[in-house]
Amino acid sequence: MMAAAAAGNRDLKVTLIEKNEKLGKKLYITGKGRCNLTNECDNETFLKNVVRNPKFMYSCVSAFDPHACMEWFADNGLKLKTERGNRVFPASDRSSDVIKTLERAITLTKAEVKLGTLVKNIVVKEPEEGSGPAVSGVRLMNGDILTADYVCVATGGSSYPSTGSTGDGYRFARETGHNVTDTYPSLAAVKVSEGFVKRLEGLSLKNIVLSAYDDHKRVYKELGEMLFTADGISGPLVLTLSALMTSQLSSGSLKIYIDLKPGLDEEMLDARLLRDFDEGRNRYFANALDKLLPSSIIPVIIELSGIDGKRKVNSITKEERRKLITLLKSFELTSKGIAGYNEAVITRGGVDIRQVNPKTMESKLVKGLFFAGEVLDVDALTGGFNLQIAWSTAQAAIQAILKDVDG
Ligand SMILES: Cc1cc2nc3c(=O)[nH]c(=O)nc-3n(C[C@H](O)[C@H](O)[C@H](O)COP(=O)(O)OP(=O)(O)OC[C@H]3O[C@@H](n4cnc5c(N)ncnc54)[C@H](O)[C@@H]3O)c2cc1C
Repeated sequence: MMAAAAAGNRDLKVTLIEKNEKLGKKLYITGKGRCNLTNECDNETFLKNVVRNPKFMYSCVSAFDPHACMEWFADNGLKLKTERGNRVFPASDRSSDVIKTLERAITLTKAEVKLGTLVKNIVVKEPEEGSGPAVSGVRLMNGDILTADYVCVATGGSSYPSTGSTGDGYRFARETGHNVTDTYPSLAAVKVSEGFVKRLEGLSLKNIVLSAYDDHKRVYKELGEMLFTADGISGPLVLTLSALMTSQLSSGSLKIYIDLKPGLDEEMLDARLLRDFDEGRNRYFANALDKLLPSSIIPVIIELSGIDGKRKVNSITKEERRKLITLLKSFELTSKGIAGYNEAVITRGGVDIRQVNPKTMESKLVKGLFFAGEVLDVDALTGGFNLQIAWSTAQAAIQAILKDVDG
């Protein structure tokens, strides 16, 4: 959409082909329906948040950075606001306003929009003497060929396939001779083996430290928020973990530990327990943790501690307190793997960036063929960075095409 909007107000025949009956189905669900469309940060911060292949993004984000993106949307009539963590949203809190802005920008141009039209494959001309292969158009589902001197593949990844991103672009890339790196769901929940998480479903924890160990080696440690799902864990810390650790998470060899009380070391926590126990000496253990923990996790902690909840707290031994402290400081979970594409915010992996010109997004193998957005092997953390990748790469592609047309 961004590419069509930017290309269309020139004397060019531009066609935006979308297989859905409407534009922006995925955009609609972004940012929990509010669309965190970029992050108001400098380029260095942006690049730090790109997990895979940040160097590839260097040129195109310099040419169309988050501030240029904000300006573009503001110039096209969308009021914006910036929230915690520099996350940028439409002032209306409605992702539909972002879609409307793009649609309006496209309407003001000469671009034609073909909805409900599936591209079956990319058509490439046989190489002529002295030159390599070049794109000549796209074949539609009904067999028609739409001829074109330039084709920009912006088909997204494989996540949330119900929005239309079913990985077609990876096939287009392979069929035209490109390498596609292994793809995985990313920015997704992590499923765990422990059945007790079901009882914690919906519990959200703030200010905890989540660590992950692969074969006893620490691979992640961060303070923040998380939540329990029916069969695992999710929330900001877990999404970041999933983006950084895809291969280990997929193999299911990861141990995850939650420090429920990161502000207290073991000694302090023991003193705190003793104080709480002392205040209600005759209370049952089952009722003695309510000042320390959210209520829904207390029965699980009691069960895992092996201490009978009907015991009076004054009978709990030092050894038993130590076990309890270990549970609170290192609440252990075993990763069974990452949630699938249906639940993943993005797809990690994609069109091999070594075969794409980072300034123009043009394939180095097929002249006139461009790739933009999530189909590329570039991905970022949450915060508006993934959409910024889509905007910057689309702008790079379109500016390069316009330059080529102008000779
Ligand atoms: C639940 C959720 C929330 C998210 N929230 C945010 C957020 O707040 N901020 C952020 O930065 N990122 C967010 N993301 C990620 C972001 O939405 C994507 O990275 C971004 O949309 C990728 O843009 P794209 O244009 O490459 O692909 P898409 O937005 O997936 O668009 C690709 C389009 O191509 C069409 N298409 C595919 N194949 C064909 C074909 N063969 N023929 C015709 N049309 C085809 C699809 O129907 C689709 O409309 C979120 C993702 C999800 C799933």
